[in-house]
Amino acid sequence: MNEHSLATLPDPPPALGLERDVSLARHTYLRIGGAAAYFGTPPDIDTLVRIWAWAKSHAIPLRIVGGGSNMLVADEGVRAVVISLRRACGYLDIDGTAVYAGAAVMLPAIAKAAAERGLSGMEFAIGIPGDIGGAMQTNAGIGDGRSMGDVVTSVDVLRDGVPVTLSREQIAFDYRHTSLRTAGEIVLAARLALKPRPRDEVEAEMSRLLGTRQATQPTAEPNAGSVFRNPPGDRAGQMIEAVGGKNVASGSAHVSSLHANFIVHDGHASASEYLDVMTEVQRLVLATYGVRLIPEIEWWGDGTPPEVFQ
Ligand SMILES: Cc1cc2nc3c(=O)[nH]c(=O)nc-3n(C[C@H](O)[C@H](O)[C@H](O)COP(=O)(O)OP(=O)(O)OC[C@H]3O[C@@H](n4cnc5c(N)ncnc54)[C@H](O)[C@@H]3O)c2cc1C
Repeated sequence: MNEHSLATLPDPPPALGLERDVSLARHTYLRIGGAAAYFGTPPDIDTLVRIWAWAKSHAIPLRIVGGGSNMLVADEGVRAVVISLRRACGYLDIDGTAVYAGAAVMLPAIAKAAAERGLSGMEFAIGIPGDIGGAMQTNAGIGDGRSMGDVVTSVDVLRDGVPVTLSREQIAFDYRHTSLRTAGEIVLAARLALKPRPRDEVEAEMSRLLGTRQATQPTAEPNAGSVFRNPPGDRAGQMIEAVGGKNVASGSAHVSSLHANFIVHDGHASASEYLDVMTEVQRLVLATYGVRLIPEIEWWGDGTPPEVFQ
């Protein structure tokens, strides 16, 4: 039994289909973290709206987990209703060059489906293990500057329990951030505009991008992608490597020997060990460069975030 079961938390109506005390480790790419007080995979938007209204009426935060590839969940878990949209928003429709993707569709799946139809624009996303909902928060992209903002034409969100469509012009897409995130919008779906390109060219580019990833990133070990944002005009990985960051470890969590901005573990690290490594890396870079690295990954925990995230 963990602290969520001991705390006084209301029982949700059975029709909402919410489970209690569900480990989030298995819903994250990093495989780390405690339990969500409530977890649900609503079958449709109506049920999502009812869950949203119930959570609101009890002042319990509602969080959406997408691919779980950009977060570190506290060992104590979160006192929240955590929702996966994989049942309600798992649809993908491609008509000509127009793509309509539910929030839970993974980026590599869209890239592959587009390639099969001779469509270009999503090649860059082939190796990003997030879904559309997550990518609309982080403006997922790659080092050459390509990102989701280049292809999105509109986004459906649930605002105050009501579905609303926002045009591209109503959304600010920045480096690993969008205004949807600042506003706390629940993303339901996105429309993308792609361009025709011969299938073999699209597939060749995706293979090349995947090959580069495999050679430069620790793809076999649990990780959260780039842990820190690149400071303006600099590369976090190079700075971490230059200050000896590749020697930093705590328990089984350690800086990857392949890429210094990745922190990996053997599948058994705790969030607190992962935080130890992040904190030491941040301290080393600050001491040498006077630059305080800002995490790219998001902290999921109750109360005040750990110092490295502040
Ligand atoms: C191996 C690896 C490689 C990576 N490479 C890249 C890369 O090249 N480029 C890059 O940009 N990123 C990269 N990432 C980071 C990550 O994949 C992206 O940031 C991705 O967009 C996150 O999507 P997700 O679905 O996993 O989001 P999650 O981690 O599930 O969630 C991230 C945030 O988005 C919110 N969210 C998720 N879905 C919704 C929704 N439907 N509505 C509202 N909020 C929502 C969550 O609540 C959370 O706040 C990498 C990660 C890994 C592990």
